[in-house]
Amino acid sequence: MSTSPTYQHVVACGLPYDRGYAHGSQAAAKVQRNVEYYRQAGRLAESGMVQKLIREIYIPNITAHYPSGWEEMKGIADGASVSVEDVVLLNARYDLSRLNGLSVSEPQSQAQESDEDAHECTTAFFLAPTTDGGDVLNAVNWDMNARLWHDDVVIYLEIHPHSSESKPSLFLAAEAGQLGRSGMNSLGIGVTSNSLMSTEDYIPDADATRPVMPISLLRRMILECSHLSEAMTATQQFPRHVSNGLTLATAEGFGLCLELTPSRVYKVYSPVDDAYLVHTNHFTDPSFLAGEAVYDRYPGGSSWFRRQRLEQGIRPYVRGRVTAPQLVQAFSDHLSFPESLCCHPDQHPPDSVIRTLPGYPYRSNAATVACLIYNLSQRTIWACKGPPCHGTFETFTLKGPRSLTRPTGDAVEPGEELRPEIP
Ligand SMILES: [Zn+2]
Repeated sequence: MSTSPTYQHVVACGLPYDRGYAHGSQAAAKVQRNVEYYRQAGRLAESGMVQKLIREIYIPNITAHYPSGWEEMKGIADGASVSVEDVVLLNARYDLSRLNGLSVSEPQSQAQESDEDAHECTTAFFLAPTTDGGDVLNAVNWDMNARLWHDDVVIYLEIHPHSSESKPSLFLAAEAGQLGRSGMNSLGIGVTSNSLMSTEDYIPDADATRPVMPISLLRRMILECSHLSEAMTATQQFPRHVSNGLTLATAEGFGLCLELTPSRVYKVYSPVDDAYLVHTNHFTDPSFLAGEAVYDRYPGGSSWFRRQRLEQGIRPYVRGRVTAPQLVQAFSDHLSFPESLCCHPDQHPPDSVIRTLPGYPYRSNAATVACLIYNLSQRTIWACKGPPCHGTFETFTLKGPRSLTRPTGDAVEPGEELRPEIP
């Protein structure tokens, strides 16, 4: 287990390949450890299928539909001395981990999940009326295999694109080698994520007419957008074959949760008088729940109480008194320890009672591997390695362009300040 109280902070600048190379070279050993781990038999889907998907489906579609992401992945590969297929594997880990038991191009209601499929997350945004000081916060307890925490293979990735790209700067939390799992940009847009599973998820076929890419890349594309509307369009149009939940917010004063299946985006808004929203790992949109064609595949567990527990912890403060420390306290809830909102590794044999039930989804030794509070207004990040109840928090400030578009539509030089800083 790593003794460092914090994760590595990687800063990468320049054109896509160059910033990828900077990422790969600065975090080379961590990238290699992640590749070695996910390449092990049984960690993800069957290895022959994994290679076929990467070569015949993901790479051609990433090259066609996200060329800058492809260039960045090539840079990561060269910088870390691994193959670009390995970097695609890392970025497709979420998608690949849930394919065991699904048949090609056939959505299926029962599936044998792999041991990397147990990751959960609790996400929440808080708009200006709820917070002390009027800032907009987007926060997440990132729950995943405790290996990420113990082996110290998570990084904070700060990206400053080349001025010719007209893109904002980014701060992301990621497994080393990935383009990002949650984050914010210098324009004040933030995105966090929840694992979601539906019966619409499927294994793509190379002959299928609809292209697909690893859905984690969508979060990175959202953060490269110049405004929220563009991010919404990216979400609707992004071609995918598995489900995922996104919690988006902007410093301008808006937030929502999106529940994605391969073909649809379900929009979840906060009640008009509640300028905040919490989301976990099951579908909540009424139209999804009322439908009979597609079902939630969440196997049961802490998702069914984490949302309520976080709300109970923070609700007394949502009339203008929410602070980051109070949020941390709410995120540190231990009901149903160790599978709690603040998730800790289980010291006992996992699931000794329920493992004999039919359809039992094997669950790995999970933990909250990071707690991140993105202050979208101040462009600051409060980040903790491991569970927030006892981890060490660090503060980062993201510099970069605060606007990319003049009211007249003219392009703006990155770094040029056009609007007064949002208080
Ligand atoms: Zn804890």
